[in-house]
Amino acid sequence: MNLDLDLSDRTVLLLGAAHASRRALRRYSHAGAAVRTASTPEEARRALARPVDLVVSVTDGNPAWGPVLAELREHHLVVSEPAAAPGGQIILVGGGPGVEELMTLAARRALAEADVVLYDRLAPHEDLDELTHGAELIDVGKRPGRHAVPQQDIEAMLLDHARAGKTVVRLKGGDPFVFGRGREEVGAGAAAGIPVTVVPGVTSAVSVPTAAGIPVTHREVSRSFTVISGHAPLTDAELTHLAGLGGTIVVLMGVGTLQQTVAGLHRVGMDPTTPLAVVERGYRVDQVTTYSTIADAVSTGVLTRCSSPAVVVVGDVVRLGRDAPAHIADSVEPAGVGPA
Ligand code: SAH
Repeated sequence: MNLDLDLSDRTVLLLGAAHASRRALRRYSHAGAAVRTASTPEEARRALARPVDLVVSVTDGNPAWGPVLAELREHHLVVSEPAAAPGGQIILVGGGPGVEELMTLAARRALAEADVVLYDRLAPHEDLDELTHGAELIDVGKRPGRHAVPQQDIEAMLLDHARAGKTVVRLKGGDPFVFGRGREEVGAGAAAGIPVTVVPGVTSAVSVPTAAGIPVTHREVSRSFTVISGHAPLTDAELTHLAGLGGTIVVLMGVGTLQQTVAGLHRVGMDPTTPLAVVERGYRVDQVTTYSTIADAVSTGVLTRCSSPAVVVVGDVVRLGRDAPAHIADSVEPAGVGPA
């Protein structure tokens, strides 16, 4: 639940067992209220010796609280909140290509319910404090000069927090199941008997080309798109099949192997006039698209200046982006952030 009330300088009395009221405590504090808590009816009566503006009940129908709640209702505004789930859970959330507008409602809801968020650099993370109402935020992504937290440590952290009864959100860039190691984290939760849900996200494989006005398919131009990881160089068999399909090729994590990829496509006989685009930092204010062709990219080395994160698009659809009306590329506001 979002709490857009301004409760600064207001006093809120929170009723309920400590574990049940933890999330409400965080949320009302985040909204600016001075929060007092009472975990038993006796404590509640004592707390009322001082004035309060609002009473929040997280007592979840427990009859022990009935009489004191009835008394309170006579003089106070009493709001009921559902108690926190007793067991922890893990929610894998796809955050989209890095701009808050392209997060789904389900993603926002998961963040609003989170006690802890483990996030990556490519996920939208500028406004996490607002979106989560003050959950604990843990950066597990790569930064210049610092390694990413190893996957097994991330999984151990997810399990530790969930075992402590918390709702743990694992926020990833794009979609969790597209080169996101999402299924490994589902497996880790399942093996530990912890419920895991997955919220899909807008993948960069499709949206970052869109940010440059490039449709991954277009009638009579391309009727397929293949998304491949360029983390390791593509094999000749892969290159041959990709070229043979005649559709759009989308390479993620492809900057480090970019020269090898274009040289390989050239070598296996792809039409050397095939256009390609490298879209760097999609949806950021410093987004930039470099256009070339297979032959020119090989001979001029124009792509060696490109840097990560970038999506590489190879195929005739690239022309449609290059010739697109400018407003297509501008239809979503970029994130107000510079390079990570
Ligand atoms: N799960 C993610 C992909 C993770 S792999 C998804 O579905 O989008 C990381 C790669 O995604 C990067 O190397 C880059 O190729 C691409 N990427 C993600 N966000 C990007 C962005 N805003 N701009 C350009 N490339 C991006």
